[in-house]
Amino acid sequence: MGTKILVIDDEPDIEPLLLQRFWLTIREGIYQFRFARGGYEAISLIEAEPDYDVLLVDINMRDMDGLTLLSYLPDLLPNGRAVMVSAYGDMDNIRTAMNRGAFDFVCKPINFKDLELTVEKTARHVHQLRESARTKLAADLKTHFFDNITHEFRTPLTLILAPVERLLRQWSEHQGTQRDLIAIDRNARQLLRLINQLLDLAKLEVGHLQVNPQPGYLSEFIDQLVQAFVPIAEQRGITLTYQTDVSGMWLFDAEKVGQIGYNLLANAIKFTTRSATQKTGSTHVTVRLENGSPIRLSVSDTGIGIPTANLPHIFDRFYQVNSLVRPLEPGTGIGLSMVKELTVLMGGTVSVSSSTGTPTTPSGSTFVVDLPISPLSTEESVVDDSFSLRDWFPLRATEPDTEWGSVTPPEDAPLVVVVEDNDELRTFLAEELTNHYRVLTAASGERGWTMIQTELPDVVISDVMMPGMDGYALTQCIKTTPATDHIAVILLTAKAASDSRLAGLQQGADDYLTKPFVIEELVLRLRNLLARQQRLRTLYQQQLARPELPQPIETVQDGWLRTLFTVLDEHLDDSSFTVERLAECMALSSKTLLRKVQSLTQLSTNDLIRRYRLRKAVDLLRAGHGVSETAYMVGFDTPSYFGQCFKEIYQVTPKDFAISAKA
Ligand code: ADP
Repeated sequence: MGTKILVIDDEPDIEPLLLQRFWLTIREGIYQFRFARGGYEAISLIEAEPDYDVLLVDINMRDMDGLTLLSYLPDLLPNGRAVMVSAYGDMDNIRTAMNRGAFDFVCKPINFKDLELTVEKTARHVHQLRESARTKLAADLKTHFFDNITHEFRTPLTLILAPVERLLRQWSEHQGTQRDLIAIDRNARQLLRLINQLLDLAKLEVGHLQVNPQPGYLSEFIDQLVQAFVPIAEQRGITLTYQTDVSGMWLFDAEKVGQIGYNLLANAIKFTTRSATQKTGSTHVTVRLENGSPIRLSVSDTGIGIPTANLPHIFDRFYQVNSLVRPLEPGTGIGLSMVKELTVLMGGTVSVSSSTGTPTTPSGSTFVVDLPISPLSTEESVVDDSFSLRDWFPLRATEPDTEWGSVTPPEDAPLVVVVEDNDELRTFLAEELTNHYRVLTAASGERGWTMIQTELPDVVISDVMMPGMDGYALTQCIKTTPATDHIAVILLTAKAASDSRLAGLQQGADDYLTKPFVIEELVLRLRNLLARQQRLRTLYQQQLARPELPQPIETVQDGWLRTLFTVLDEHLDDSSFTVERLAECMALSSKTLLRKVQSLTQLSTNDLIRRYRLRKAVDLLRAGHGVSETAYMVGFDTPSYFGQCFKEIYQVTPKDFAISAKA
């Protein structure tokens, strides 16, 4: 395709001059020229055809000068580039133009050979830009597609894993059923791991997989990984050992280190079987984690080994050593390529030594992964629990859970709204949660939002990916609306990628769960959030009820409550200041105000107003004001009623309080 050039110059003779000079390239379709006599005309031409490659812009024009036009170009024509034309010696303007993003410049009187070369160079640059924008778009589309696919896979997997978990609890005494259920669980998890691996592979290909280091206990993490393989190792008569001198907190990407460890261990066990290799003694798989810089993870086995000729290829994608050499084991040939690519992504190296054995030397393989991960000096760092070990480690038979029965929740149980477009998952969640909470469900973000505004629940659990209003948009609505911004939000995301976590957190979500999740984990997080809300309620109440604490307005964390207290301060001595007027000031209906005040403080609005005023009275009495005076100053009609209310809260009459404050 030819290069489209727009020439913007208010000198009329530039047009015939250029057409004459470039006629050959125009005839061959290499260049197409358009002309504008000023900045405004140029803008309307670009708006009509936003695919110009090169702009030749005169700096000095009458209607809109070239520098002004240049400042519009990043928005108007992000992929086009401007070559500025100015009088020889107009260095100031040329420098300004270059600083504002012009690609190059030519001077008047124009040297046409120079102009040809500059146009050619600019056109080449623009075509390269377009090409990389196209590649990026294709990569983005691919990633978007994979994100969607992940969602499609993970939702049904949740619906397999979660009921299995429930059935395991219910059938804990029935061994045969337990065995079957554990098999379902193991296989569903295996499926999930493979899907994750395939998706990571695809992301690696388009360069979209990022390292996401989080603080965590590295050696405990590897230990858990190893422990997960103990049952299968025992089954195969393999001694599995883990040795380490690593301790403390490290900064590492658990997801990736987990995948590396998992693949190496799975291979070590897969290719080490007693029947195939045990000639004399026992068979071993040893995992070693060594302190140092870099950290070294090695996995050794006394298995069948890898023939020297095959060693150079084992890290290639889809490569598997000839199945005649190895026992028939299932596999995909991507495990080791993942190990290699993830290691390299994290800046590490991986190596292997292996032998298929001789009559005098045993066979076996050792994989060594060196990772440049660093220790954390402080123990203060918060361990991020977002990486769900449950994705990796199969379920064991669980104790029957007595807490889980079909009980109807009490009337004052917390209210949870579940927003999920998948009918099955929505129903499942509602069924599971109704044992503990009052639950309402909505099948779309829009319906959820309406419900949330009328019901003001304590917590919202919402799927992220929904047609129409998605989980992020819903979270944003909840967190930016004063009536609802106190409501806790848990997002259910199929995207394991950290960027989607970040997106949710930026909208103010309080917690996250990546599908598939187990219902207990959700309940646990719900409990934590509700407990946090409860702690805050108690704190707010205490701030009002304990005279030794500072005035609530000075310490309250909630911005909305602070505003409410400020309004109360402004009307402190106004005994006719009603709940309705407060609601008006807070731009809410009295009903919504009541619900919001209740959910933040467990008090009615009236109660809150009264307690706030009494708390103010404490300071006034301390400052030496008389009891009656104080009563009027804080909006009580009669000192006697003030005295009665004061005693109720502080167990002492205002008079006695004033005396003891003076003492
Ligand atoms: P697969 O899914 O086949 O295990 P991998 O990429 O993990 O694919 O491994 C590639 C090949 O390398 C395997 O098919 C196997 O032949 C060989 N291999 C990997 N690990 C070991 C090991 N510990 N012992 C023997 N052979 C191994």
